[in-house]
Formats: sequence, C-alpha cells, structure tokens
Amino acid sequence: MEQVTDGLVLREVKVGEADKILTILSPQLGIINASARGSRRLKSKLFSGCGLFCYSEFTLSSGRNTWFVQQATVKRVFHGIGASVGGMALAAYLAELTSLLPLTEKEAPRQMRLLLNSLYLISEQKKPLWQIKAVYELRTMTLNGYMPQLLCCRDCHKYDGDGFLLEYQGGELLCRDCAARENKTPNLDQGSLKALRYICLMEDDQIFSFELKEKSIPFLCRVAEEYTIYQMERPVKSLGFYHSVQ
Ligand SMILES: [Zn+2]
Repeated sequence: MEQVTDGLVLREVKVGEADKILTILSPQLGIINASARGSRRLKSKLFSGCGLFCYSEFTLSSGRNTWFVQQATVKRVFHGIGASVGGMALAAYLAELTSLLPLTEKEAPRQMRLLLNSLYLISEQKKPLWQIKAVYELRTMTLNGYMPQLLCCRDCHKYDGDGFLLEYQGGELLCRDCAARENKTPNLDQGSLKALRYICLMEDDQIFSFELKEKSIPFLCRVAEEYTIYQMERPVKSLGFYHSVQ
C-alpha cells in the first residue's frame, strides 16, 4: 500500500553505508519512522528531500513494521537554521520534543504548522531564540491537552499582581500569599504571567507577537521549559546542548 503525505524530517539515523531511518512528522499519520534506502548517496533521488528539517512530499510504502520512502520531493528547506549554532541547537530541541509527543491525527496538523512557523522564524532570524522556544513549548503543551489553568489563583481567585506561582503538578496558579501559606515562592512576575496567558490563549497566527520586558524574560523561559519537561515525564536530551551554546 502506498501513501502520499507531506512531512517534516525531525530526526535522521544513519544505517549501513547509504541508508537512513527518518522520524517524520506528518499531518495525516502523526509521528512515523521510515527507512530511506540509499538516501545518503549524492545521486539518490531521495537525497535532497530526506535531509534533516526538510519539509517534503513523501511517497511511502508500508512494510511489515515500518514505512519505506519511495519518493521525496522538497517543498521547503530552512537554509538559515544552520547559520548559527544556537539556531541549530534550538531546531534540534524542538524536533526532539515533537518526536516524543503522543500525537494523534487530531493534533498533528496544528503541531506541524506550529513547528514549520518556528523553524521559519529561526531560519530567518525574525524573533529571538528564547521567544521561539518559550512559545513552542507552551503552545505544544496547550495543543496536547496540558494547558495550565491561567485564569486566577486557585485558592483566592486573585487575577493580577506581581508574583504568582505556576505549579507544574496540576498546572495551577497560586498568588504570592496563597503560595506562602504552602511555603512556596512565586516563579512568575507580572509581565511573564501576562505573556504566559497570551501565548496559551491567543489565536494561532498571533502567538509570536508579544513584547516582554528584559527583566521578565528569564521568568517566562524558566517556567515554559520546566513546565514542559515536567509534563513530558522524560528527558529531552538536546536541551542540554541548547543551553550549552547560549
Ligand atoms: Zn491566592
């Protein structure tokens, strides 16, 4: 059986002399592994369409346990990703994070658009890396059913103020006073809480359009990352590399 699908190459593992196993995000199939035989040969018709972070139209045939790439036609290459080590490291992290998601057909198309937009912004250097990363993490959690409860304090329903705690377990907000009652301290200032709400609640096409004061950036970045890693319940190995090159 053959299937034609658009797909983004999230990972490539070299096998033997000229083959690769690709991990592909497909809007129709979710995350799949596919063998691209001979694709590392320069003359292979699969060579250009099977590169890392390539967005291609794939013709796949299904084997007993895996897919085989029969054809790959490039639709988009993000050439600028390789221009900086930081950009490359972020793209690798976003791709690995995505490959670990239990995506179904329901979430896969929106996840795909989010990742394509993020790779575009990295490639064209349109937004700072911290912003692309935080938006991707929080939006990915929201898309996959882990949106934190961001309306108000869980205990007293306070909405606004400087100093809120987002609890990773349960994904609930506590104001400074209610957090203190449990001997906990805030991890968000006013600006980062506002940004957090914006990212999780805005329409898809507006999520990257926010400004954040310099002093609030570390709060947003830390909470976005820690909340995401907590919900994933497993390490994302390329995160360490991302931090080592910032
Ligand atoms: Zn409270």
